[in-house]
Amino acid sequence: MRILNVNLGNRTYPIFIEADGFEKAAKKILRQCDSKTYIIISDENVASHYYEKLTSFLEQGEAKCYLYKITPGEESKSLTTAEQIYTWMLANRFHRDDLIIALGGGVVGDLAGFIAATYLRGIRWVQIPTTLMAQVDSSVGGKVGVNHPLAKNSIGAFYQPQLVWIDPSTLKTLPCREIYNGLAEVIKYGLILDPEFFEFLEINFDKIVSLQDSELLNQIIKTCCRLKSMVVEKDERETDYRRILNFGHTIGHALENITDYRYFRHGEAVAWGMLAAAAISQKSLSLPSDQFIRIESMMLLLEKPALPIDFAADQIVQAIQSDKKMTSEGLKFVLLESIGNSRVEFVNRELIEFGVNYLLTINKKGRT
Ligand code: ADP
Ligand code: ZN
Repeated sequence: MRILNVNLGNRTYPIFIEADGFEKAAKKILRQCDSKTYIIISDENVASHYYEKLTSFLEQGEAKCYLYKITPGEESKSLTTAEQIYTWMLANRFHRDDLIIALGGGVVGDLAGFIAATYLRGIRWVQIPTTLMAQVDSSVGGKVGVNHPLAKNSIGAFYQPQLVWIDPSTLKTLPCREIYNGLAEVIKYGLILDPEFFEFLEINFDKIVSLQDSELLNQIIKTCCRLKSMVVEKDERETDYRRILNFGHTIGHALENITDYRYFRHGEAVAWGMLAAAAISQKSLSLPSDQFIRIESMMLLLEKPALPIDFAADQIVQAIQSDKKMTSEGLKFVLLESIGNSRVEFVNRELIEFGVNYLLTINKKGRT
């Protein structure tokens, strides 16, 4: 078993990584959290695969489990769903000693964490992430929340769990598209923080995607959690340093936005965004061209939908501007000096257009 601590003073928590580990997960939760009531929030897909597995080990002695299943998908990450869950919890008289377990991907984790942060002014929670995206990204750092119709992820809190249990074997039931979705964030960590890790991903890409080698997956997940926790430990509330985690996200968010959040999975849009950010880095920060070519090759390996045909450079620049404040100096943007070495810099409109136009060229090439 691999154990990693996210060191945040009195909010420090451990992340356990173990394949086929539901029995051990249950034992750990029973021992560490010692609650009589476990409130499991999951979605229909994940619950059908893993709810019984978990609760058969949890429901020992007096412990009792309750399940709230949400409809899978981003639409459930809303105040409306949150209110329905509060109502169910109040009707069941769940109290402050009870424990919430988020069993699912990022949608379940963000929503269940938000409920934990707010129900009776905060109750304890545990996260069991079941998508690659949630295992390497959203389960580290305590960002919880829901979407508002006017802005995604705009209502929320920083609220750390008691522990995170990652079972990489849950990825075997995950749709292939979701693996690529999570891999985009995996590659991001290499690009912004760790050149050796990026090289490791280049060498092992095919093996990773095949999901056959569970030791390899364990290792990758642990590296990502370690890299992300290192950033979060330095800047828990994203005042400064944590921003490097947004590499590829400015253009990525704009792409999600102009396609109404229905066309791209988050990681797919971020993969396009990282490619544009790398092109901008080459032009304005002298990212070496051999490294740029390696990034380009890696991004092309990541399966993702093409950019929509009717998409224009102007549209995306406008979407960025409506999302982020562009000052006279430009827009704060995460760029790469080299692979593994990132920096936040002001980027002007011309450079952003350059990055977007580069994407359009690549997109056209992909079609012929
Ligand atoms: P993300 O972690 O990227 O935010 P979601 O929470 O939206 O993703 O999950 C993506 C989809 O994958 C959902 O339809 C969800 O029900 C499904 N899912 C999550 N984990 C698993 C799993 N281990 N096996 C099968 N389907 C899963
Ligand atoms: Zn992201």
